[in-house]
Amino acid sequence: MSGIIVPAKKLNEECGIIGIKSKQKKALAYDIYYGLFALQHRGQESAGIAVSYDKRKINYYKKMGLVNDVFEEETLGGFPFGDCAIGHVRYSTTGSSNVVNAQPVVFYGRFGRMAVAHNGNIINCDSLKSGMMKKGHVFQSSIDSEVIATLINLNSEESLLGGVKKTCEMLEGAYSLVIMADDKLVAVRDKFGFKPLVMGRRGDDIIFASETCALDSLNAEFVRDILPGEIVVVDENNEISSEFMPNIERHSCIFEYVYLARSDSTIDGRTVYDARYQCGKYLAKLFKIDADAVAGVPDSAIVAARGYSESTGIPLVDALSKNRYVGRTFIQPSQALRENSVRVKLNAIKNNINGKRLVLIDDSIVRGTTSKKIIGLLRESGAKEVHMLIASPVVKYPCFFGVDMESRDKLIGGYRSEEEICKLIGADSLHYLPLEYLIKACKGNKCDFCAACFDGNYPVDVDKYNCGKFVLEV
Ligand code: SF4
Repeated sequence: MSGIIVPAKKLNEECGIIGIKSKQKKALAYDIYYGLFALQHRGQESAGIAVSYDKRKINYYKKMGLVNDVFEEETLGGFPFGDCAIGHVRYSTTGSSNVVNAQPVVFYGRFGRMAVAHNGNIINCDSLKSGMMKKGHVFQSSIDSEVIATLINLNSEESLLGGVKKTCEMLEGAYSLVIMADDKLVAVRDKFGFKPLVMGRRGDDIIFASETCALDSLNAEFVRDILPGEIVVVDENNEISSEFMPNIERHSCIFEYVYLARSDSTIDGRTVYDARYQCGKYLAKLFKIDADAVAGVPDSAIVAARGYSESTGIPLVDALSKNRYVGRTFIQPSQALRENSVRVKLNAIKNNINGKRLVLIDDSIVRGTTSKKIIGLLRESGAKEVHMLIASPVVKYPCFFGVDMESRDKLIGGYRSEEEICKLIGADSLHYLPLEYLIKACKGNKCDFCAACFDGNYPVDVDKYNCGKFVLEV
């Protein structure tokens, strides 16, 4: 039987955003393109760029597809030179998979054309939206970013900054934003700091991006993280000012370190690579397994496998080869399509595993279907034993803040014991990294993070906003 697999991607990231403010007009569309390319792992359904070339004018282009497919040379060359630009890559955590829901949201408002790009999920969006609809507002899309854009415009009677601040007071949930209006670029991180957002500089250009890997792709220097609750304004002269929202309470998403962010990014002063490597070392400390080889599931668990191997002395092997040209498997986000659409993504490297007792490390188990397929493939390809180690705790609870973790009954850890999961995925043994060790690996305190998908402690009162996904139907 062929060793070619399959696995549906277990989790879908949220979105990636980037914005650049320059002193001179230049071909910023190209810079945004390269930045979005670096953020592609955060969203593969649609991509968009908006360029401001005059105080009140914006050109934009957005479409379904990967960054590379959406923007051809001709499209990028067709953008005017501008002094401000923003971009967005999206996976649909809210709103359907449709170009109407692609971002940035560009609209006519108080300051002429304005544009907003958003990463996160607003949990009181429905009530805000229905309140506005009752007053006669209309919406073109089903995304919460359009609600944010409309609120900013409504609230900006006195100034753009005033409008942004007032809007932030109304929003509940997770949001990192870049806003382009009134000859300014505004960057916002919600008061919990759920989603990462960094600031960089390249000459006179000021850049904001979801991850530092986007700054690196532009040869920009990392300046600092935008802090939870911070609103940074870059004005028409590229002068930077900053204000803070009230009631700030840091709870950054710990899953960024586990899986969502790129290993070469740094979030809130901690490199993702180091955190993953340390998780592997802690797994080695906690779980001694008599094995011949250790391997990581590409890409996000390779670093943890290295940490495990270097701590235990068990040789690190490449057990799985990833076909990098297949494209991401969850361009279509429905579960049925995910299950059916991927058949050629991973292959086993038989010579490295044949007859061996293997420790296989993955970053997490969400539905369990991927793990089951991979373990089946490794056994078919000659592995004598497969012991699974997970570099994070059991995912038991859904996420309401922009990561596509489904309702609890869809999370295998939400309704199965570890023993049951081990049996279901066909592993010889299964162990998870306890939360306290994940937090130590991320060099933080428990209170610095949101770890709700592991422990159910949501920083926001999700029941109040009727998130309503706690019903366990199995
Ligand atoms: S629930 Fe999990 S994925 Fe969602 S923000 Fe919290 S830690 Fe991140």
